Amino acid sequence: MSEVYTLSPVGYVRSCFAEKFGIPRQPQLAPDARAQLILTPPYDAPEAVAGLEQVSHVWLLFVFHQCPSGPAHIRVRPPRLGGNQKLGVFASRATHRPNPLGQSVVRLDKVEPGCLWLSGVDLLDGTPVLDIKPYVPYADEVPGAFNHIASAPPALLPVQWTAEARAQAQAQGERLGQPLLALIEQCLAQDPKPAYQTPDPARRYGMRLWDVDVQWHYPSAAQICVLAVNTAP
Ligand code: SAM
Repeated sequence: MSEVYTLSPVGYVRSCFAEKFGIPRQPQLAPDARAQLILTPPYDAPEAVAGLEQVSHVWLLFVFHQCPSGPAHIRVRPPRLGGNQKLGVFASRATHRPNPLGQSVVRLDKVEPGCLWLSGVDLLDGTPVLDIKPYVPYADEVPGAFNHIASAPPALLPVQWTAEARAQAQAQGERLGQPLLALIEQCLAQDPKPAYQTPDPARRYGMRLWDVDVQWHYPSAAQICVLAVNTAP
């Protein structure tokens, strides 16, 4: 007999990532990816975050709220392995899991009653957060730990710009008050497209950061060029 537990969010993420495509596959890969975690009552009281200003990073336990529901996957095809190799679900960080739960260590930039200012996030705007825990270096850093499936961060692709796109990114960044140009470079260098896809140089790819539509193409398989950075229609 399966047991059922009731969990309720302690807050919701307001993040730069307006859609799933283009979000880095783990936290810390785009240090300029910023978010606010808006706490819900009663956790918006100053007492709930007292002491947290002494902590540089927090663990967020959250719900993959934009994953289609369906039968639990026992084996998954991680995008990192090119999408053609299957692993047990518990050997991967895939979003389709027995329960749609994610965990990320993110930088805690500022603490306010009712609001945590975060960076280095891999979280979609609107993500419900179930719990927040301080990162504890002596316990959470494991000397000698290994993972032979994901032994190093993904290799970065060089990101180039057309002169027009660079000027657009600078102007949009100033409008938003955000380091948009750096954020775009950090996200695209991760190569958002699935690893099994050979990109056609004529195809335009796009992602949304806040209300901005970022468009790029692949002049060759190992190169990205940003074409346009405009307010989304
Ligand atoms: N660090 C977390 C973990 O290990 O549990 C998440 C890893 S998961 C591979 C990261 C991806 O989840 C992102 O690239 C994004 O596409 C997706 N994602 C982020 N927030 C989401 C949400 N609220 N609902 C569905 N997918 C989400």
